[in-house]
Amino acid sequence: MKTYSIAIHGGAGTLVKGLMTEALEAEYRNALKVARDTGFEVLKNGGSATDAVEVAVKLLEDSPLFNAGKGSVFTAEGTHEMDAAIMDGETLNAGAVSLITGIKNPVSLARDVMDKSYHVFLAGEGAMKFANDLGYELESPDYFYDEVRYQQWQGIKDSDTFQLDHSVKKEGKFGTVGAVACDQNGNIAAATSTGGMTNKKWGRVGDSPMIGVGNYANNKTCAVSCTGSGEFFIRGVVAYDVSCLMEHKGLSLEAATEEVIHHRILEINGDGGLIAVDSDGNIAMPFNTEGMYRASKSSKEKEEISIYKD
Ligand code: ASP
Repeated sequence: MKTYSIAIHGGAGTLVKGLMTEALEAEYRNALKVARDTGFEVLKNGGSATDAVEVAVKLLEDSPLFNAGKGSVFTAEGTHEMDAAIMDGETLNAGAVSLITGIKNPVSLARDVMDKSYHVFLAGEGAMKFANDLGYELESPDYFYDEVRYQQWQGIKDSDTFQLDHSVKKEGKFGTVGAVACDQNGNIAAATSTGGMTNKKWGRVGDSPMIGVGNYANNKTCAVSCTGSGEFFIRGVVAYDVSCLMEHKGLSLEAATEEVIHHRILEINGDGGLIAVDSDGNIAMPFNTEGMYRASKSSKEKEEISIYKD
């Protein structure tokens, strides 16, 4: 049997040891553990990498701790606009949604775009119409209300400031979420979901739902889910850049992800990190920020749940 593995993230940023209470840190670790282990069970039972990443991301979306689904940040209008993507590395099928609101699990809508439409990327009103046609029920704004997020927004509301989780210097709830997995058949997949940045406006879209940027999977190379300063990750075409270094330069997963996160994206001032797997079940989780919520488990290697640079 081939090595199977999963890695998940809950966002990268200014996560400094000691700034968070022990109780809150334990909550984060537990949420990461539950999502990772649930995804891993899917793989262990012979399920597909695509199912595993969707299940793991859904659980992270359901937690108020992360900036995705339930815990999404506020826009300049006081609403929540979410982005998500999923990609199957075996077929290169992909689905993505952007600027959606009221959807409990954006990653599942992205999956439906992949499985039930001819298209790859649906945005805004059209994406909401697609969800309605499929019978999705909408959650009320109360479901997405979170006091910490609200206060983050109040601090910069009515200004031209957009706040990335990554630049917050105090205890806070950070975190775009993502998962990558390699199943028992050596097929790989990636999924990413986010509420974007606090006080965003003008229909701002980050890297997370963009195929090849914040999310990508190709059995030939790697499955990648990113988190970081979206505008820079878009310019760096990060996820596909990792894949290209592996495909065209023959770099290993570890070398390609290190090169992109510690050199190429830093050269253009991008801060953040990514999680990645290849079809041999290898895992990489590099970041150039102070921390990244992350967890991984493999049928071969040791398991990990970490927040800071260790
Ligand atoms: N990359 C996300 C965005 O720019 C934010 C994040 O990863 O926290 O929308």
